Amino acid sequence: MISWTEEQRTLRAAAVELGEVVGKDHLERDAAGEFAADGWALVRGSGLLGLPFGTEHGGLGADLLTTMYVLEGLGESCRDGGFAFSVCTHMVSTGVPLHRFGSAELKARYLPGVCGGGAIGAHAISEPDAGSDMMAMRTTAERDGDDYVLTGSKSFVSNGPIAGTFVVYARTGKPGSPGAITAFLVERDSPGLHVGTPIAKMGLRTSPLSELFLDGVRVPAANVVGSVGAGFLVLDHVMRWEILLSFVVNLGEMEHRVRRCVDYARTREQFGQSIGSFQSVSNKLVDMRISVDTARKWLYDTGEKLVARKNVTTDIAITKLVVSEANLATALAAVQVFGGYGYMAEYGVEKDVRNAVAGPIYSGTSEIQRQRVAAMMGL
Ligand SMILES: Cc1cc2nc3c(=O)[nH]c(=O)nc-3n(C[C@H](O)[C@H](O)[C@H](O)COP(=O)(O)OP(=O)(O)OC[C@H]3O[C@@H](n4cnc5c(N)ncnc54)[C@H](O)[C@@H]3O)c2cc1C
Repeated sequence: MISWTEEQRTLRAAAVELGEVVGKDHLERDAAGEFAADGWALVRGSGLLGLPFGTEHGGLGADLLTTMYVLEGLGESCRDGGFAFSVCTHMVSTGVPLHRFGSAELKARYLPGVCGGGAIGAHAISEPDAGSDMMAMRTTAERDGDDYVLTGSKSFVSNGPIAGTFVVYARTGKPGSPGAITAFLVERDSPGLHVGTPIAKMGLRTSPLSELFLDGVRVPAANVVGSVGAGFLVLDHVMRWEILLSFVVNLGEMEHRVRRCVDYARTREQFGQSIGSFQSVSNKLVDMRISVDTARKWLYDTGEKLVARKNVTTDIAITKLVVSEANLATALAAVQVFGGYGYMAEYGVEKDVRNAVAGPIYSGTSEIQRQRVAAMMGL
């Protein structure tokens, strides 16, 4: 159990307060599929976006665990799950790879925009024929003088419609080899780059997502993030952070959910007594509590191991499985606890189910994570 300092608690309290304000009108925005632009303006001024990045670039220089703790607070208070997802995507897609692998020049040019939120970040990996099998990606980057020329298309880019900078992963070597992929920092106004229209989706509707088309986009060789052929390594690092940061937000959401369900079960009466006094309902709440606490342990234990530079290959996969599946299971259980009211949009309980369905898909599906764990077990 980590004991948090006063400074860390203060940072988290600010994020909780911010989340409450930003999450207002979340039901209307979910129905309209609208990103909270006003909320983004507030977040930009809060320091939250630069939490784990260097102070020399406008960040707060916090460590991974502090960042997780603060984002958990955002998840707990912000009812707009899509907005919180966009915040994490912004930080993780561009800030994390730049911070770890970017040249001094790239960091100086782009990290202030990440920390201040002036240019929203996104990353483009998945393609129509390369989802789980990202090695099959077809987008190519060919060297031409001081530039690379990028050609191809990307299928699902979170923040795409609102992004100012993209980290695009493209092929610079032979298909199938881990050394074949390179990460590029690409600006939105680059000639030949076309952002598709927002794609309608089941949940996370307030986090816009689109396709990305690259039609001979010239990118300076200086915009390679890391080195040529090291894109897989960059992505592996990014995915570890994405799993810890995005899913710690889900942890906050689950904590809120279990408390809300307990309150409801204590006050909703049927057959002359509270529904929480029926064992089949209270068992559900106990199972939710256990899921949330298990998720918390996996997230922070894995975060601590990563900070200690221990091997987290299996831990990251298990963490992702435990938290994403707990989030979906508790969201469904909440609908059942609320009964018919849970099914109605105005309670905001059904929206959480739609949002949670995405968790076992993005950042590596549950099937792929189980396959990774199996491989580590020697299977
Ligand atoms: C809300 C959301 C946001 C996203 N944001 C982004 C983003 O910002 N950038 C980005 O690049 N991508 C993003 N994605 C895409 C996401 O990473 C992919 O959807 C995911 O990697 C799966 O790829 P796919 O959809 O092509 O499914 P497929 O790979 O076609 O998989 C279909 C099914 O087959 C299973 N399967 C595939 N291969 C195997 C195997 N070897 N063994 C067992 N089962 C297998 C999968 O688990 C799945 O159940 C996002 C997706 C969602 C839902």
